[in-house]
Amino acid sequence: MRRAGGNDAKEGKKPWKHGSNGKIQKVSEQLQEQRRNLPIAKGADALIREIKSNDTLVLLGETGSGKTTQVPQYILESGVLGSGMIAVTQPRRVAATSLAARVAAEQGCSVGDRVGYAVRFQEAYGPETKIKFLTDGMLARELLADPLLSKYSVIILDEAHERTLNTDLLMASLKGIQEARKGNTKVPHSGKGKERADNSSCGALKVIIMSATLDAEKFSRFFGNAKIIYVKGRQHPVKIYHTVTGQNDFVDAALRTFFQIHVDQPPGDVLIFLPGQEDIESLEKSISSYASQLPLGKSRVVVCPFYASMPQDKQNKVFSPTTNGQRKCILSTNIAETSITIPGVRYVIDTGVHKEKRHLAGVSGSGFNTLLVCAISKSSAMQRAGRAGREGPGFCYRLYPESAFRDLPDTSEPEIMRCSLASATLRLKCLQRDFFDLELLDKPDGSAINAGMKTLWMLGALDTEGNLTPTGRAMSLFPVEPQQSRALLESRIHGCTREVLAIVAIQSASSKVFYDPGSGSAADSNEPGSRDIERRDQAQAARAKFIHISGDHMTLLNVFRAYEDLLKSSGGDSKSAKAERRDWCNRHFLHERALTEALDIQTQLRRICDTMRGREASFGLSDPNIELDWRSSVAEGPGSTVEAEKVLKCLMTGLVQHGALRSAERGYCPIMDKSKTIKIHPSSTLAGKKFDAIMYDELLFTNSGSTYARCVSAIPTSIISDLSAYRPRST
Ligand code: ADP
Ligand code: MG
Repeated sequence: MRRAGGNDAKEGKKPWKHGSNGKIQKVSEQLQEQRRNLPIAKGADALIREIKSNDTLVLLGETGSGKTTQVPQYILESGVLGSGMIAVTQPRRVAATSLAARVAAEQGCSVGDRVGYAVRFQEAYGPETKIKFLTDGMLARELLADPLLSKYSVIILDEAHERTLNTDLLMASLKGIQEARKGNTKVPHSGKGKERADNSSCGALKVIIMSATLDAEKFSRFFGNAKIIYVKGRQHPVKIYHTVTGQNDFVDAALRTFFQIHVDQPPGDVLIFLPGQEDIESLEKSISSYASQLPLGKSRVVVCPFYASMPQDKQNKVFSPTTNGQRKCILSTNIAETSITIPGVRYVIDTGVHKEKRHLAGVSGSGFNTLLVCAISKSSAMQRAGRAGREGPGFCYRLYPESAFRDLPDTSEPEIMRCSLASATLRLKCLQRDFFDLELLDKPDGSAINAGMKTLWMLGALDTEGNLTPTGRAMSLFPVEPQQSRALLESRIHGCTREVLAIVAIQSASSKVFYDPGSGSAADSNEPGSRDIERRDQAQAARAKFIHISGDHMTLLNVFRAYEDLLKSSGGDSKSAKAERRDWCNRHFLHERALTEALDIQTQLRRICDTMRGREASFGLSDPNIELDWRSSVAEGPGSTVEAEKVLKCLMTGLVQHGALRSAERGYCPIMDKSKTIKIHPSSTLAGKKFDAIMYDELLFTNSGSTYARCVSAIPTSIISDLSAYRPRST
């Protein structure tokens, strides 16, 4: 086990580190008082009794009642745990890290000690860790190395109502693991020869499914009519307002609504739900700028953005109380819908939209997901409104008419029914399972399962019979998307691992590296933004020196290299060195945090490459005719045409379904669906230019019917024809 001790771990220590012992005592007492006052506290003893006498429980309770933060602590304090650990899964990484920080504070320890977390590329836990918050994706990855999840005595699948693909898959796996750990059946094991002689040696596994909405029966039935426990929350009445007509620009509508509340309504914080980081940043700017123009006394607005890739130190601001006379305005994605409860909220503004992962048939029917701004469900709208009534009567302003609310679907479609199954299929194949033989809450249809298999076959991860190939097994070792791990594997043949690693690392960072002043939402949030065109031009000019003629992928590499050079020349942690780097990033409209995160991810991915180095034979990947080197750079050096050619060739083995050919009459037509036409997104360095062939990371669908390719590179048509003639080796 490794303790990464990233920034988050340090942040988690803060309330305890500063201040004398006396002060620590005081903070702790205050927290204990808050714990005792949570609705769930009254039922704690009864809950523990149920946990002791049931292997599986479904726990249902209103958001904010204390399920996530308290149940793991009750289990820990009750002694039922034995020598194992408690895992608590969360669909989002920011929830996992922020809840770990909260529970560690309540336990009076540092994050990484008794309470820790693990999210992709970032973890803080150690030998003493008993409560571990992790994303559902991380626990799904842990299954690959430890198919019985033997470290854990209790696994809590939290936010089950969100029905993420990974939570659904974990539910299916946990059922089998419980049986296997009782010694009743065998669980397929990973191919690494780590089979346990005795399935039951790690003891029984308790599973708790937690949900904030009334869908408990389905979970209960899935687990053989598991007992359902209800926690009563406190919910005060919330008065709901709808707009008379639909709003074209929800960011602008939210801005106006916020100031109406701020000027006319009594104290109380405001929580605004927006689809994503871009809209949040754009609204943050407008609110701050208008607030500063208000007459004194009314300008005391504290704006707190809250989204998935928020740095931890900024997250703390969301939870800290404001001083007298100030009004906090929290701009959040649906993270604040049920995962995280922010105290003090009295007013909610609901834009009625969120971002949804989708795998669209047709033009993108190609194994990759895309994030789309979509209408929320009735259930989400009610959860959002509920956030206003936790501490007293509240108000919810829906930026859509009542008729629109009535037309919303009751619940969102489970992710498993609407997103690409390729990555999950690869993991299942490593466990000798697949979607066809898995018992699931909702089963995707055969064509979706086959589409996932086809993608893996095109990547060479499965053979024509659908069996895992050595390439596929090697790909599964990398915690990145299959198309990225495929490119990484290819890079060792072309001697450009260093370059491909850098590009994959930048793309895997949790926020974008380019800061686009003009990307705020307009009427249609999927449409390229039209605001701040001047600032956008400025940004493009500042970044011109990074542009590579082949397009966005090599441009990303250039940015990464420039930052690495800067670190070499002004490295170190001195104030002036840090300021110089910050200034450099600002001048070039780059998010520094994305770059530092990418450096860290690069190191972690390189470590995986290193463990495979020299062991290719054991993966069945060696080829006597090719000299393999995982670390090498292109011999001809940075900027050479050979370099770009090699790197793009590797990336294209991953993006094999994401190529497009141009014809004079029709423009760019995707190779997987030649009847469609796509355009290059205005944010691309290749926007408006014409090439014979391009490849792209993703397609963006706008509500007005256009399709844009994002992160685009021009490639020789020969690469596409090479690949279409390509048949994976059936090893
Ligand atoms: P549930 O899981 O039932 O929705 P939680 O256990 O997440 O409830 O939350 C219980 C309480 O803990 C809430 O009142 C919430 O405001 C508080 N809380 C959670 N995280 C933090 C934090 N980081 N800072 C302050 N309060 C927090
Ligand atoms: Mg919760």
